[in-house]
Amino acid sequence: MAKKKSKREYVWLECRQCSSRNYRTSVSVAEGTPKLELKKFCKNDRKHTAHKIRRK
Ligand SMILES: [Zn+2]
Repeated sequence: MAKKKSKREYVWLECRQCSSRNYRTSVSVAEGTPKLELKKFCKNDRKHTAHKIRRK
């Protein structure tokens, strides 16, 4: 199984409003854990909210 050695980790994007995990994405962890918040559309809130990265 060929696997790249890039330091990427799959994380969840969790809505700050309703705490539902709406998106999965990968982030680079080469320089420590990124503290990111992204504006994403939440289907529960039916609007764009801030989503924070949640490592599993
Ligand atoms: Zn939400």
